[in-house]
Amino acid sequence: MGLLTLMARRFVAGKTADTAMAAVRKLNEQKICTTLDILGEDVTDRDEATRCADAYIGLLERIAQEKVDSNVSVKLTMMGLDIDKQFCLDNVRRVVQAAARVGNWVRIDIEGSNVTQETFDIAHALHAENSNVAAAVQAYLYRSEEDIRKLNEAGVAVRLCKGAYKEPKQVAFQNKRDVNANFSKLMRLLLEEGTDPAIATHDTKLINECKELVARNGIGKDQFEFQMLFGIRNALQRQLADEGYRVRCYVPFGTHWLPYFLRRLRERRANVMFVLKNLFRR
Ligand SMILES: Cc1cc2nc3c(=O)[nH]c(=O)nc-3n(C[C@H](O)[C@H](O)[C@H](O)COP(=O)(O)OP(=O)(O)OC[C@H]3O[C@@H](n4cnc5c(N)ncnc54)[C@H](O)[C@@H]3O)c2cc1C
Repeated sequence: MGLLTLMARRFVAGKTADTAMAAVRKLNEQKICTTLDILGEDVTDRDEATRCADAYIGLLERIAQEKVDSNVSVKLTMMGLDIDKQFCLDNVRRVVQAAARVGNWVRIDIEGSNVTQETFDIAHALHAENSNVAAAVQAYLYRSEEDIRKLNEAGVAVRLCKGAYKEPKQVAFQNKRDVNANFSKLMRLLLEEGTDPAIATHDTKLINECKELVARNGIGKDQFEFQMLFGIRNALQRQLADEGYRVRCYVPFGTHWLPYFLRRLRERRANVMFVLKNLFRR
């Protein structure tokens, strides 16, 4: 097994649905629910995009059969967004309908700014047909407040994250302080006016701010959830769940792990140093 593969294991729950379901069951035992992500993005072949949707449909059936507490997260560029918007919409619709059949729901991840508008167009269109569709918004984008207002108005549940792609200053805040300040502002907007918001961060300052905000405003612990990524701040995930907050862990699995792994490396200098140290140690 290659060194990178070995290190990616920290962030990825194995290559197959079997390994991912085992991770889900373990998290569920700790009162942490999950969202399963089949790794893959930027698909340019129609058959492959169709197969990806089929894989999600199979996964949703398995979640229902095995009675685990999990929904799914999908990336639209895996479902053919780069090929054709209508094709992608039809493909994701199949996944959303399969989720509805088993009483589950689908979160649409948010990707690079080149596909932000198409992503929200599809999220709104599918939500108008089936209410079991949720969206995600990135605090680093200048446009996000407006997007959140529209999603709130339509009753679409939003996951708020900082944003993981490299974006130019024309569209996104570049320094952490500005991103964090916008996260605080958008978090307030979601908690006060949104539908079942998800606060997706490992940042303890923002998590504590969220806790204070909900306590001050009498927002129940069942009216929102914290979300974190598989393999990051596990003790904090368990602590929040023990304190009675809803916690959902994002559990990615599959063979196309490299872009996801590189985003996790870029987020934290310590991760890059860890990789470099191990490379030189070989
Ligand atoms: C549930 C969930 C879903 C997400 N979905 C999307 C999405 O759809 N689109 C998108 O663009 N982004 C998504 N992200 C990623 C997000 O945008 C950030 O890139 C990522 O969460 C890091 O930001 P942070 O809020 O944790 O804050 P940071 O300020 O980056 O980190 C705060 C602290 O968290 C810990 N930490 C953060 N990242 C790492 C890491 N990689 N390795 C080890 N420790 C770390 C460290 O202790 C760090 O000090 C998602 C994140 C979560 C939690």
